[in-house]
Amino acid sequence: MSIDQNNSVFEKIKNDNHEQLVFCNDEALGLKAIIGIHNTVLGPAIGGTRMWNYSSDNEALRDVINLSKAMSYKSSLAGLNAGGGKAVIIGDIKLKSESFIKRFADFINDLNGKYWTAQDVNMSIQDIVWVKERSNYVVGLPKEHGGLGDSSSPTAYGVYVGIKSATKHITGKDSLKDKKVLVQGVGNVGRKLVNHLLEEGANVSVVDINQENIEKLSLDKVNVINENEIYDNSYDILSPCALGGTINVNSLKNIKCNIIAGAANNQLGDDTLVPKMLQEKKILYVPDFLINAGGIISVYHEQINDIDEKKVMEMTESIYDKVSDVLDHSIKNSTTTNSSAIQLAKDRIKENSKK
Ligand code: NAD
Repeated sequence: MSIDQNNSVFEKIKNDNHEQLVFCNDEALGLKAIIGIHNTVLGPAIGGTRMWNYSSDNEALRDVINLSKAMSYKSSLAGLNAGGGKAVIIGDIKLKSESFIKRFADFINDLNGKYWTAQDVNMSIQDIVWVKERSNYVVGLPKEHGGLGDSSSPTAYGVYVGIKSATKHITGKDSLKDKKVLVQGVGNVGRKLVNHLLEEGANVSVVDINQENIEKLSLDKVNVINENEIYDNSYDILSPCALGGTINVNSLKNIKCNIIAGAANNQLGDDTLVPKMLQEKKILYVPDFLINAGGIISVYHEQINDIDEKKVMEMTESIYDKVSDVLDHSIKNSTTTNSSAIQLAKDRIKENSKK
């Protein structure tokens, strides 16, 4: 009997050489989840669990495949001894209960530490604490539960030093004084980034759909931009810190800036056309999985049981050099910055797989 190649799970993971996909099912609880373990050459796979009401199982599968692969690249580039994984729970968040989450934790536990989970979209701190009651393989815990707490501080700091490094790459100096920066999304990460930028004398504009988050800023120090006018002005730096997909074929018709560097995951609308368009427009794009690694650096320290905020911040500071390495590599090899980041991440994994 011939296999329908379009529906073959193995076809979907062939190119990226995924190690393992785990399908988890509990009819009584309505629990359907997929754990994706992309690569464990550098260490155990680490990556959060996302709950989403996917329109199909195939959509969930595609998501977990892409997300777990991105985690391998993120950890590799950050210099961590960690691999890439991610889990998706399929369904409405109304399905969630203590027994539902604990059953999911049992599935993680069965993997004996090959995959470590953390918080992601639609998973609360309470959920993570329930996971911890059933399994040790969870990170991103609140401080009162032995973790390092909210990772938005290292993430924001990593984005800040990454922006400085990219600025140096273009101007020869890393000072952000008087640089025009637009921060898109001022939630946990964006707000802290704004404070770093203001401290250095940058000219900061912000945009957010949530007025409450705007009001948490020092409003006398920032320019608040209307959502509909977001791309009307030109900036030195655009920092996407809201959702993914904001850098796409349509938005690029209007974006006027020299550098794009921000915390949001999966910023690019696609991986081929958009990086090339950025290059054509002479916009220096700093790949999201390179610059937003502060969060994974923090949870990695929990995973190795090194609960030390100072060490997390020191390692996060190295994002400055890593951004510089990727930007240099892209010039030397005439590739997009996105391709260079992926290549350097893969090289480190390959190098270690020989050992
Ligand atoms: P958050 O939910 O606290 O903040 C997101 C902000 O974006 C909110 O204020 C929201 O109102 C705003 N927003 C949503 N849609 C918008 C739109 N269309 N235009 C303008 N603003 C909009 O999230 P966060 O923890 O600050 O994370 C920000 C981004 O960084 C996310 O994409 C997240 O996945 C990514 N990230 C976060 C971390 C971390 O440590 N928190 C680590 C890595 C990556």
